[in-house]
Formats: sequence, structure tokens, C-alpha cells
Amino acid sequence: MCSSDLMKSPGITVRPIITLGGEHEVNEVWLEDVIVPVENRVFEENKGWTCAKYLLAHERTGIAGVARSKRGVERVKTIARAEMDDGAPLIKNPFFKRKIAELEVDLIALEFTELRTLAGEASGKGPGPESSLLKIKGTEIQQRITELALEAVGHYGAPYFRGFGEGDNEHPIGPDYAHRAAPTYFNGRKTSIYGGSNEIQRNIIAKAVLGL
Ligand SMILES: Cc1cc2nc3c(=O)[nH]c(=O)nc-3n(C[C@H](O)[C@H](O)[C@H](O)COP(=O)(O)OP(=O)(O)OC[C@H]3O[C@@H](n4cnc5c(N)ncnc54)[C@H](O)[C@@H]3O)c2cc1C
Repeated sequence: MCSSDLMKSPGITVRPIITLGGEHEVNEVWLEDVIVPVENRVFEENKGWTCAKYLLAHERTGIAGVARSKRGVERVKTIARAEMDDGAPLIKNPFFKRKIAELEVDLIALEFTELRTLAGEASGKGPGPESSLLKIKGTEIQQRITELALEAVGHYGAPYFRGFGEGDNEHPIGPDYAHRAAPTYFNGRKTSIYGGSNEIQRNIIAKAVLGL
């Protein structure tokens, strides 16, 4: 049975979840006595968690999102070049500049850690508990980027029209780069939860890496 047919099985209920950013991108899925044909079983019987842990290690490596964060840092710099602070571009403000520099240093460190993990994979060593480290640092960096973007746009981050850019006639207030700063910030809170919360990743590192 293909997956779209499976979703019509009796006992499956899908309910939308509206995220903090005000958008619908995820659902909650309830399973009540759902019968799954044996040919659709993934991996061996009663080995679901083993299978899930393997997939999660890969998911967490991907969540690190180095390339996406590099684009995010560039976006923050573009905003900071355009926004004025006390008569000079915000990017000249030493406090703001320092926050960007710290972000970039952490991002470079994350990139090299990720490259080590990928090199390990290339030589047949699948990602292990170090994927938890990538997940924690990657998501912290992503959240800091959204915080800096919101800080840089200042008051323009406050007005937000959900329909903007979707064909309505609302006129946005402030520069284009400000419109998504607040919803992106709110949406980004999810990154330290999904794929296993960052607290749980710390527990995994404590047990599997540090042997505590
Ligand atoms: C946007 C988004 C998309 C998602 N997508 C998917 C998906 O596609 N598929 C899927 O299956 N799931 C998905 N999830 C669910 C996600 O995996 C869980 O929300 C996440 O693993 C946390 O589990 P929980 O919500 O049950 O929190 P809980 O485990 O109930 O934790 C609640 C809080 O307690 C803390 N906590 C819990 N246990 C411990 C402990 N032992 N030590 C220290 N702190 C602890 C947690 O860190 C957290 O802060 C998604 C979640 C989000 C937000």
C-alpha cells in the first residue's frame, strides 16, 4: 500500500498545528488502533527504535544547517548595513559588530565539526552521538541569527501582516527585509525542540560521549 493510501486508514486523524510564527506547516497525527499491512513494516519487528535512532542521527546532522546559517548571517549584515544607528550604519556599532563576529566564529567551528562528521561517514563511520553536538550548536546559531535580525530591524519588526506577499492589498510598514523578521524569530524557537530537544541532546552527549 502506498503512503497516501495509508494515511486514509481507519484510526488516523490529522489535526493542523499553527506555529508561533502564525503559519501552518506542521500537524499532529493521532493513531488509534491503526492496522498496518505487514509488507509496509519498516525494518525488523520490534526494532523500530533502533531504526528511529539511526534516522535521528542523520536528521540531527542535517539540522545543523551550516549553509542556511551562512546565508542568515549575510542577511543580518545586509540589514545592519542599511539600518542607521545614531547617524551611522548599525554594522559600524561595535557591540553589534561583535555579536556578528562571535556568530561567524561559532559558525566556522560548527562547519569544521560537521566536515569531520561527514568525513567519518565517507569512510563508513555513520554519524553517532556527535550528531547531538551538531544539533545543539547549529540550532543555537540559527536562533541567534533570528534574534540579531529582529534586533537590527527594531520597531519595524512589530507590524506583521500575514497576507503580505500572498496577493492581498495590505501595505507593509518599513523596509522589505523587516517583514519576516518577527515571524522568522518566533518560528525559529522550534529548532531547539524538534529532532529531540536540546536538553535531551545534552543527556545523550553526557552518556554516550562523556560516559557520565
Ligand atoms: C516544528 C516541529 C516539527 C516536528 N516535526 C516532527 C516530525 O516530523 N515527526 C515527529 O515524530 N516529531 C516531530 N516533532 C516533535 C519533536 O520531535 C518533539 O516535540 C521533541 O522531540 C520534544 O518532545 P516532546 O514535545 O514530547 O517534549 P517532552 O519530551 O515532553 O519535553 C518537554 C520539556 O522537558 C524537557 N525534558 C524532557 N525530558 C527530559 C530529561 N530527561 N532531561 C532534561 N530535560 C528533559 C525537554 O527538553 C523539554 O524542554 C516536531 C516538533 C516541532 C516543534
